[in-house]
Amino acid sequence: PFDVLVIGGGPAGASAAIYAARKGIRTGIVAERFGGQVMDTVGIENFISMKYTEGPKLAASLEEHVKEYGVDIMKQQRAKRLEKREFIEVELESGAVLKSKAVIVSTGARWRNVGVPGEAEFKNKGVAYCPHCDGPLFAGKHVAVIGGGNSGIEAAIDLAGIVSHVTVLEFMPELKADAVLQKRLFSLPNVTVLKNVQTKEITGTDKVDGISYMDRDSGQIGHVELQGVFVQIGLVPNTDWLAETLERTRMGELVVNGHGATSVPGVFAAGDCTNSPYKQIIISMGSGATAALGAFDYLIRN
Ligand code: FAD
Repeated sequence: PFDVLVIGGGPAGASAAIYAARKGIRTGIVAERFGGQVMDTVGIENFISMKYTEGPKLAASLEEHVKEYGVDIMKQQRAKRLEKREFIEVELESGAVLKSKAVIVSTGARWRNVGVPGEAEFKNKGVAYCPHCDGPLFAGKHVAVIGGGNSGIEAAIDLAGIVSHVTVLEFMPELKADAVLQKRLFSLPNVTVLKNVQTKEITGTDKVDGISYMDRDSGQIGHVELQGVFVQIGLVPNTDWLAETLERTRMGELVVNGHGATSVPGVFAAGDCTNSPYKQIIISMGSGATAALGAFDYLIRN
């Protein structure tokens, strides 16, 4: 069996694998797609110590770093079941069952898409999902935020300080965000809120030039010219396969303590799949390190 088996090969998993392997223990990593969300990112400007890098380049150096330490890398493999017996067993889609004394889950998350024409086409060409990451790219421009929940309204407030104007589109007749956030939002001079509207299309030629929506009462179509669209309708953790095994929040995030431990002894978790309040590369890497050190502590006590 492995001493530590990491499930997920994004920043959290790579960091966890390196920290574990550096303890001289038998470490494996299973990843459906090495690099994780980083592979979908073009410019990265907030990975501290690098003024600028690009997703595929960062993903390649993550893998290169992991390979420095005899970690057993199992790519294009998807875990589907976890069970604690004598060892912790992880079953893969392929049918193989891996055994380990400790497991670190770092399966990440995915942004929920609106699924309208233009969204996929203009990803990284005006369509963005992370205001902390991409907000500054839209300085002085007009952007839309799709989604009037807490994350949408936080994004709109954040962006309003950077961009010239923010248009918020909410599907329901009322915003769902907390009252304090709404109060702050409505105090800002450069924000327009459209409620009860359905986004129909993100328009553009080589990059985004506008957004079309339908008023759900009148059926009328509206169009706003703008340069960016932030989609803020939810981040879904990749934890469905653990629903019966580990404690999760209402949102499906794995609940971890300060050592990265989940509700099952010997099972740790890190990164975007956990209830960590902020989801960023640097934060995922930190929590991967924490989970590996937590797992090592667990191993020397058991
Ligand atoms: P992920 O990166 O999601 O990696 C999860 C890993 O688990 C992947 O290898 C995946 O294939 C694997 N996996 C999932 N399910 C299974 C399974 N069942 N079995 C096996 N493997 C599985 N953050 C920043 O700090 N700066 C930025 O500029 C930035 N820009 C971003 C731009 C975009 C378009 C996106 C989508 C995100 C961006 N982020 C940015 C956020 C950042 O990418 C994430 O916070 C970070 O990648 C999370 O790392 P993670 O390792 O927790 O999860």
